[in-house]
Amino acid sequence: MTLDASVKEALKLVAYPMVVKDVVTTGIVRQVTASGADVTIDVVLPTMVVEPQAKAAFLKSISAAAEKVPGVGNVKLDVAVKVASLPAPTDKNRASGVKNIIAVASGKGGVGKSTVATNLALALRRWGAKVGLLDADVFGPSVPQMLGAPQIPPSGTPDKRISPAVFYDIKVMSVAFFVDKDQAVVWRGPMVHKLLEQFLGDVDWGDLDYLVVDLPPGTGDVQLSLTQLIPLTGAIMVTTPQQVAVIDVVKAISMFKKVEVPILGVIENMAYYVCPSCGHHDEIFSRGGGRKLAQEVGSAFLGEIPIDTKVRFGGDTGVPVVVGAPDSEHSRIFMELAAEAAGRMVGRILSGPRRAAALTTIR
Ligand code: ADP
Repeated sequence: MTLDASVKEALKLVAYPMVVKDVVTTGIVRQVTASGADVTIDVVLPTMVVEPQAKAAFLKSISAAAEKVPGVGNVKLDVAVKVASLPAPTDKNRASGVKNIIAVASGKGGVGKSTVATNLALALRRWGAKVGLLDADVFGPSVPQMLGAPQIPPSGTPDKRISPAVFYDIKVMSVAFFVDKDQAVVWRGPMVHKLLEQFLGDVDWGDLDYLVVDLPPGTGDVQLSLTQLIPLTGAIMVTTPQQVAVIDVVKAISMFKKVEVPILGVIENMAYYVCPSCGHHDEIFSRGGGRKLAQEVGSAFLGEIPIDTKVRFGGDTGVPVVVGAPDSEHSRIFMELAAEAAGRMVGRILSGPRRAAALTTIR
């Protein structure tokens, strides 16, 4: 066997975190070239949204496996990034340049779903991804309010499509751009379906690595229409820790299971409060409900977000904490949550359908 073939064979024992197939089969190791004893390995990472330590550890596992092969001298890695995505949707007219669509859902309103969707989108952008945010909470759109004044407002394009608004370098679309802010949106299912169709088909999203969709709370027309219209990479469930909130998330999870959308994980928001003046730690809505729920339904627990005035203030003033207080603890938490979620998406995409089915299993 040639040296490059031996190295490739050895690399079949290395896997990317959360992916059940090896790096050669998944195409993360694209090519191995040997020149004498020196070996160059072309590595194509499936996302740029990864903690630097995790990335370094992964790359080290590749070099280490190659170095163990008899006859190998120097090992050089050529590293690039190509964000992994599900196979292209059959209907090429809907958000065809978008690689991953992630729904952010909750059982109840007021648990911080829009706050999480907005900060998560901004965190993905801070990691370097191209990001869009679709406010599909058509009955109570709050994303534009949370983002403040747009850098670029939405506009019509010459080919009669809609250019999304741009806030903090992410593309945003919301029904709030088109209806009077004090006017209630009273729409039946077919109208909601039509609107979502337009949001996905008539909005010029361009090329995006991630499109985050802020869903309305609960299980309704928007959730069903979205899953009928476009394949989702997965859904993230947001809950507060108390029992009454958790019960409703279980219902929402079961709905996603029925429509075959994998749950990427559960986030527990408002997990606890630390008094800024005396340091007293209070679990206002109890704690651990999200983690327990994740265990019970067999999905991942992505992390917890404490209650903090900075988060509420950021949402009220149009400067979300990830951009308004980038060095804060909360900003760090959202950056970690984004990396965790992106890792789970890679796991779902590169592990293939069997693993995807396992991810949705409710036990
Ligand atoms: P939902 O989308 O679930 O209805 P929102 O994201 O609109 O909930 O959040 C409801 C309110 O709670 C908003 O005022 C928001 O700023 C606030 N909020 C959300 N998460 C936190 C948090 N971790 N700490 C403090 N306030 C929060």
